[in-house]
Amino acid sequence: MMADNFHVYSGHALLGHKLALLRDRRTPPARFSQLLKEISLMLLSHATADLPMREVPVITPVGLTTQRVMAKRVGFAPILRAGAGMIPAAQELMPGAPIWYLGLYRDETTMRPVRYYDKVDGYPPVDIVYILDPMLATGGSAVLAATRIKQKGVNKVSYVGLIAAPEGVEYLHSEHPDVEVYVAALDERLNENAYIVPGLGDAGDRQNATGANDPTGDPFVPEEIAAEMRGQARLL
Ligand code: URA
Repeated sequence: MMADNFHVYSGHALLGHKLALLRDRRTPPARFSQLLKEISLMLLSHATADLPMREVPVITPVGLTTQRVMAKRVGFAPILRAGAGMIPAAQELMPGAPIWYLGLYRDETTMRPVRYYDKVDGYPPVDIVYILDPMLATGGSAVLAATRIKQKGVNKVSYVGLIAAPEGVEYLHSEHPDVEVYVAALDERLNENAYIVPGLGDAGDRQNATGANDPTGDPFVPEEIAAEMRGQARLL
């Protein structure tokens, strides 16, 4: 049973379709990055639906009206490396929002996050920060990111990602019960290497073609796979 502040959009047809393409091991890096951007746009649209608003006067070519605009200052905290792929969507939706890069990598022995880049101090003040990271696996990086952002004085922190493991959601909410989580899917579990099953593999490697066993890196892709990729591209 997930908390009220866990939002999963697995029933959304277009999101589900795009996520299926993204998960497919044959999807090449450029297409993966494009799908990541498209899914992020859709998730950010949901994640920002209930932000506080204020009324402003607007003069249209035809008359004067009162409209509602967002009342709070929004920032984004992408967790490097994989979260960088969500920045284009964030910037397209909110071109003026500050981006707080957080460089965290997972120590493969301890499975704990290690902070290697953090310039959170000295950025313009915001009211709400969305942590951007495609995979909520153990939850370690998300917890550390939320802690750093709150230390900076930001009261409202939310998390937007593609796929969550139950273990990650539980850990994040045990440490930060107030953080709203928005994801496209909740998967089964973590494997012994703390990868999400079935997941999509390493989200950083999938974007950057740095995986050791990248089947799309083979220049002699069998024709039926190449044809399917062309079909996928035609579909969306
Ligand atoms: N990070 C990833 O990129 N993939 C996983 O499955 C877990 C963590």
